[in-house]
Amino acid sequence: MTTTTQQSYLVATPAEVWATHARSPWCQDDHSGPTPARVDLSCYLASDGVVLPLEFDGDDQTGGDALFTYMSVHPFWDEQDGRDVPHVNLQVVDGVWLPVLGPEQLAQVIAKLRARLDELEHEVLPQLSQARADWMAGRCELPVEARPVMAT
Ligand SMILES: [Zn+2]
Repeated sequence: MTTTTQQSYLVATPAEVWATHARSPWCQDDHSGPTPARVDLSCYLASDGVVLPLEFDGDDQTGGDALFTYMSVHPFWDEQDGRDVPHVNLQVVDGVWLPVLGPEQLAQVIAKLRARLDELEHEVLPQLSQARADWMAGRCELPVEARPVMAT
């Protein structure tokens, strides 16, 4: 007796593999590897992130990609969690993901990141530039009464 759960683990036929590209012509995978289970069959399109000088707490590792994305679809995915339609997986920083984003969720993330980038550009960057200029000009000395008492 066959159950619907067992059908999920059927191996995809070559025709099913190639039929996916009728709906996902953007796929970068030539699917020439071993034929996957139907549920594992996926198409994807990657786009570059940006390399940032990251430092990781408690780790000697530095550097890493940020905002790397790949669009993906699992045409035979058997859960209704968004993977069965094209979606974006957004790697916030190397190893940290916001997975399975639909268009609305991706738009929300973009808006939040854009707002934060605007803050960085219009608030933090001018503050930093002024603080740097003041520092280099020696203009930011503490008032005498606020200076730490120096041992003599
Ligand atoms: Zn594909």
